This record gives sequence, structure tokens and C-alpha cells, in this order.
Amino acid sequence: MQNIRLRFAPSPTGPLHIGGVRTALYNYLLARKLNGTFILRIEDTDQNRYVPGAEDYIVEALKWCGIEPDEGPGYGGDYGPYRQSERKDLYGKYALQLVENGHAYYAFDTPEELDLRRQAEKEAGNHSFKYDSKLRMEMRNSLTLSEAETKALLESGKPYTIRLKVPSGETVTIHDEVRGEVNFQTDELDDKVILKSDGMPTYHLANIVDDHLMEISHVIRGEEWLPSTAHHVLLYRFLDWESEMPAFAHLPLILKPNGKGKLSKRDGAKLGIPVFPLSWNGENEEDSFIGFREFGFDPAAVNNFLAFLGWNPGTEQEIFSLEGLCEAFSVEQVGKSGARFDFDKARWFNEQYLQASSDEALAVVIQPLAKERGYVVSDEFMAAVCGMLKERVTFYPDILEDGYYFFEGVIEYDAKVIRKKWKPERKPQFENLQSGLKGLGDYSAEAIKSAVTGFMEENDFGFGDVLPVLRVALSGTTKGPDVFKMMELLGQEEVDERLAVAYRHFEEQQAS
Ligand code: GLU
Repeated sequence: MQNIRLRFAPSPTGPLHIGGVRTALYNYLLARKLNGTFILRIEDTDQNRYVPGAEDYIVEALKWCGIEPDEGPGYGGDYGPYRQSERKDLYGKYALQLVENGHAYYAFDTPEELDLRRQAEKEAGNHSFKYDSKLRMEMRNSLTLSEAETKALLESGKPYTIRLKVPSGETVTIHDEVRGEVNFQTDELDDKVILKSDGMPTYHLANIVDDHLMEISHVIRGEEWLPSTAHHVLLYRFLDWESEMPAFAHLPLILKPNGKGKLSKRDGAKLGIPVFPLSWNGENEEDSFIGFREFGFDPAAVNNFLAFLGWNPGTEQEIFSLEGLCEAFSVEQVGKSGARFDFDKARWFNEQYLQASSDEALAVVIQPLAKERGYVVSDEFMAAVCGMLKERVTFYPDILEDGYYFFEGVIEYDAKVIRKKWKPERKPQFENLQSGLKGLGDYSAEAIKSAVTGFMEENDFGFGDVLPVLRVALSGTTKGPDVFKMMELLGQEEVDERLAVAYRHFEEQQAS
């Protein structure tokens, strides 16, 4: 049986968009499901678009998601190097082979000549300038020039490119695992440059040569590459590799949250949501983006969310661990139509993962964030806070934001509750409660609860008279977790101090 080898082949032209992470994830899932190999290949032949830091970003993003390659730059493997710029000497011979076999040709047109021609076509009403099987015979290339002229030009050192000679009047059929049979008319295709004037291959040639040499069995990539696949099939054919051509699967587009149009990198800033896995600091604000990681997402929730952007298991189950996804995933269940980037769903997934995490595991994630804010507490204390708040929050930092009062004094008391619930004439009773609590021997939530209940009975107060006052006194809000558990965690001394401060504040507010 053929080896199962899948690759994720991003170009390091900037931070990896969340759609790229989905592509990587699907490749990873299928590789794992079929006991195959997942490869990272960096497609950096276009030096003009190279962005420093982008490759590190890609590697870090995959690491964060827990979908690390088996082979790739920094990972090793028998098919390296895995950066195309380090393979550049490899591609020329295939371009020459194609020229020799009559499937490619030298083109000597300068960029200025091409511009002039494009302009002339435009003026003649032809807006889609294409260097194709018709136009090629009017251009300066080894098909129109004599052999001697071609030879002289090649020897002159003048720059030239090599173009694929797309046959005319044929239909190229692609068997796409998602879309079924897709046909392209070769008359619609241009003669793509395969080797540039700097000797570097273009994406098309490098991609095909590398997929072949790296023995890739399946190509899973975004829909935007579907039209190029016609050229790729021709390249496989002309290089005599067609029988070993990988299976293709083109993933549906990711649409904006409102379902209208393709999700763009700018949508994140516009809507205040992340569309990148990790934050990226670009040269200016416009090119800087916040990541899912920095937003406070659990990477497992992100994987789960991304897996469902274009795929579903065909059952009602929605929560899948990465291992579960590896088992359940299949290309047959990938949809053809665009997948809406429903951020509310992403939030929902994160809430599910937060709730399902152990308090201790959450504490491990939250502690470094807490330290950044200057909150220094023990791991036990943090785990207890996480336990109390995890059902009430969406993102990791919410635990520190909503629950700030666990780490510092109350900053703002809910004035409305005070107005309604704080009766100045009851101050002596509440002071009695305070001293009663201060003297408690057992300060467990249970013991506190029975002390408070006793106090209510003695004074003929109901829960509604006492609990909101205590809650607001200790946390500023009535929306917090169980008040008795909160008191146990804060501890006797801290509760006593907070009550004293709060009562004073309540009085002042009432007086004003
Ligand atoms: N380098 C291409 C990209 O950046 C790869 C497309 C493919 O997977 O063939 O998306």
C-alpha cells in the first residue's frame, strides 16, 4: 500500500490566518487517522513576499494547537530540506526537462513589454490579459523565435522565464474528494511561468516537484487553489508522474460571521474578534492582530471549533478531543459550501472546555496571567477561584477580570443593590454578624452558612435581606459565586476587613 503522507505548505508571507490553521488541522487529522505522516513544508520561493518572523509564527501556532508536524524544518525527516528556498537548485532541471519535451518554452518578454501588451489589450477592450495558447504566438519566446535567435538570447545573459505550454482545446478533469469531478477547459488557462527570471521556481512548479519528491499522497488545501490544480495536473502529466498524483481535496471558504463574503484578516479588527491563532505585531497598527491565544482561548476548543468549520461528524456530537477528531474525521464529511465563521460558536466551545477543565489545570494556565497583573496567590487559592468561576466565564482572562476581587479589594460596589438592600437602622445587627463571623472557630463554608442562617433567624431576616449585602460587601457585585465558599476562601481576617470597609462605604453612599 502507498504510504500516507500529507503536508501543510504555507508561504511565510505574514501571520498564518485562521483558515490556514484549519487547513493544517485537516491535514493533521487525516494523517493521524490513516496512520500517516504530517509534514510541514515552507513555500518561500517568492522572496518579494517573504516576511521575517512568519515561519516562526507558523511553527509556534501549530505547536500551540498541538498539531505538530512529524517532518519539517526543525523537525527533521528523510525528505528534506523542507524549506523551498533551500531546495532551489532542484527545480531547474524539471523546468528544462519540460522545455526539452516540448511542454514548456523560454519566454524573453520583458516586464515592460508585457505591460505594454496588457495596456494595448485593455485599450482594445480585452480586460483579462492572458499569456495563453493564442497570445503566445505573438510574443517573444522560443516558440516564435528561431532556434538560433533563442540560443543567442539564452547565451546573452538577458533574463528569461520558462512558461508551461498549456495545450489548446482540451479538458482537464480533476477528481476532487470534496467536489467530485471538476473540469477545466485548457483554453481558459494561461501559460503559467514555472521558472522565474531569477532562476527561482514559481509556486506551481515547486509545489508539484516537492509533492512528488516528498511522496505526498493527499493534498488538502483551500478552495482558492482549485483553479491552479488544472495546471498542476498538466505538470504531473508532462513530467510523467500522473500515475502517482496525490488525491486532492479543496476545503470550502470561510465566510464572514454574517455569512456575506470571505472572512478577511481585517474582519477581526472590525468586529473585535480574533481571526489569527496568535497575536502578531506588524509594522503598524493596521498590520497588528490579536490572536485566539491572547484572547484567552483553550487551543483544544479552537481545534474543535475549526474542525467544524466545513466538516461535521454526521452525528449530534459536538465536543471532540483532538484524538476524537482524528478518529472521526473523514474527507467525505467535508462540505462544499462556505462555512460561516460563527464567533458565538467559538465562544460556546471555549465555555464547554473551560467548564470541563479541572480546577488545577485551569490554575496552571491562569497563574502566569495573574502574575502579569501583579496578583500573587498560591496554586491552591487559584484553583479554588477557577473552580468557583469556571461555569460563569468564557475566556481565561475573564477569571481574573470578573473575579478581580479575589485578588484585590473591591473597586466598585453595586450602588443599586446598596440603595435597595442596605438599611441604616440595621447597621448594629450587621456589625453583630461581623463580629460573630470573626469569632467563628470553624471557618468552613458550611460553618459560615449555619452562622449566617442563625443570625437571620435571630433577627427575623430573610436570605434576600442578608445575602446580597454580604455579596456586595465582599465582591462588589451580586453576580459572583456561592458567597459562603467565597468567604471560606478569602479567610476570616480578610472577610472581617472587607465587611468593615464595605459598611463604611454603604453608610457614606446612603448619606450622600
Ligand atoms: N503555498 C501555498 C499556500 O500558501 C500552498 C498551497 C498548497 O497547499 O498547495 O497556501
